[in-house]
Amino acid sequence: MTPDEMKVRDYILKIYDGDVTKCMHCGKCSASCPAYGEMDIKPHQFPSYVAHGEIAALMDSKTIWECLGCSACVERCPRGVKPGKLIDGVRQAVIRQRGGSHLYPEQIPAMVDPETPQQLLVSVLRRERK
Ligand code: SF4
Ligand code: SF4
Repeated sequence: MTPDEMKVRDYILKIYDGDVTKCMHCGKCSASCPAYGEMDIKPHQFPSYVAHGEIAALMDSKTIWECLGCSACVERCPRGVKPGKLIDGVRQAVIRQRGGSHLYPEQIPAMVDPETPQQLLVSVLRRERK
């Protein structure tokens, strides 16, 4: 990995806040994923890609935009690996690289559908605030 790639991996791991080495490749996360069919790199593959420093492939993957953030994979994982959270981290790294990670509270109302339940907004903000 280049120093720049190492910096991106550190950023992803900070958001992720878990241990990719605990993955035992059982595939339960992918089996429970509703977006599995749309993904090029599957949820159960994310931990080993990160462990092996293959960050660029993850950042170019379709998966980070197909993941619904439903956390089914997080709940299903017997080792607490949280692959969905890892996918979140990679997506945020890409957004940050594109310079789009700065969102101010006053910008939010215009972007939100008025029909969106408040509970959904609160849970998304809680999940994304790290
Ligand atoms: S992340 Fe968890 S559920 Fe997915 S393959 Fe690894 S151990 Fe299994
Ligand atoms: S959080 Fe993403 S990867 Fe995990 S089950 Fe839901 S859609 Fe699939």
